[in-house]
Amino acid sequence: MKCTRCTEPAEVKLRAHNSAFCRECFVFFFQRRVERAITHEKMFSHDERILVAVSGGKDSLALWDALVLQGYDTIGFHLALGIGGYSLRSREKTEKFARDRGLRLEVHALTEDGLAVPDVIASTRRPACSACGTMKRHHFDRAALELGCAALATGHNLDDEAARLFGNVLHWQTEYLARQRPVMQPRHPKFVRKVKPLYLTGEFESATYAFMRGIDYVVEECPNAAGATQLAYKAVLDDLENRFPGTKLAFVREFTERASAAFALPEDRETTARSCEECGMPSFGALCSFCSLRAEVERRQAERAARAGAPAAPA
Ligand code: SF4
Ligand SMILES: [Zn+2]
Ligand SMILES: [Zn+2]
Repeated sequence: MKCTRCTEPAEVKLRAHNSAFCRECFVFFFQRRVERAITHEKMFSHDERILVAVSGGKDSLALWDALVLQGYDTIGFHLALGIGGYSLRSREKTEKFARDRGLRLEVHALTEDGLAVPDVIASTRRPACSACGTMKRHHFDRAALELGCAALATGHNLDDEAARLFGNVLHWQTEYLARQRPVMQPRHPKFVRKVKPLYLTGEFESATYAFMRGIDYVVEECPNAAGATQLAYKAVLDDLENRFPGTKLAFVREFTERASAAFALPEDRETTARSCEECGMPSFGALCSFCSLRAEVERRQAERAARAGAPAAPA
C-alpha cells in the first residue's frame, strides 16, 4: 500500500476517502481538513482568540494541537467533572499536554463548587449526561466570555455528529435539527460563537493523528457513557460505514450543505433575551438552566438534611 500523496509506503488507509497515507502526509491531510472546515464554514480567523474545550480525550487534544500548529491564538479550558478516577486521569493528561507544549490552560473543578457530576445525580436523579451537559455549557460559555474569546471550539467529531443527526432524524426533532450546525452564532451578547472544526473528521482519524503526533490522551470512556442511546446509534452507523465507506461523511456533509437550511428557526426564536438573576448569564427564565440546577441540588440537600434531623450545609 502506497501513500496517495507521495507514493512512499503508507501507514494508514482511509476507506471513506479512498486514500492511504504515510505518517507525514496523514498529519498534513488531517490539518488541511481541519483548516478547510474552519475557512469553509467561516468559524474564526487568525485575528481572533479561541477557547478550546479540552476533555483530555483524543479529539479535543488533536484539535488543540492542530490549531496551535496552524498558528491560531488559543486558550485551553478543562472542566474537571469530579467523576472519580476518570476525571482525575483526564485532568492529568490535559495538564501534561499543555505543560509539555507551553500552552495556556485554564482548569475549573466542579468539586470546588460542591457541584460535581456525581453529587448532582445523587441529589436530583437527573440523567448524568443531562446534568453534565448543563454544567459544561454554563462553564464553557462563562470562560469564553471572561477570557475574551471570540469563539468556543469543541472536539465533536464526524461520528458524534452523525449519531446525533441520526437520532434527531429518527425522532424528527426539528428544533434540534435546526441547531445542528458546525457553527452556531451567538444568541446573546454574552455568548460567543460555537464551532466544531472536526465535524467532518472521523474519530479514527483523530485517534490516528493523536498517535502520530505523540499525544497522550485518556483512552477510557466516561463511566456514565455506557448504555447511552448515542452509543447504540454509533453502532448502527459503524455497521453501515463498514459496508458502505463514506456513509457518515456524506450523511453529515449533505445535511449541512443541503438540508439544514430547511429547519432554520425564525430569528426571534433564536434569541435569548433575558439575563439570569443569579449569575448574569443569558437565560430564558428568571434563572439560567445552570442556576436552576444548582438551586434544585441545594433544595434537595436541605430537605435530606432536614429529614435526617441535621442542619443543612450552608449554600
Ligand atoms: S458521558 Fe455523560 S457524564 Fe460522562 S462526560 Fe459525557 S456528558 Fe458527562
Ligand atoms: Zn506520503
Ligand atoms: Zn445563572
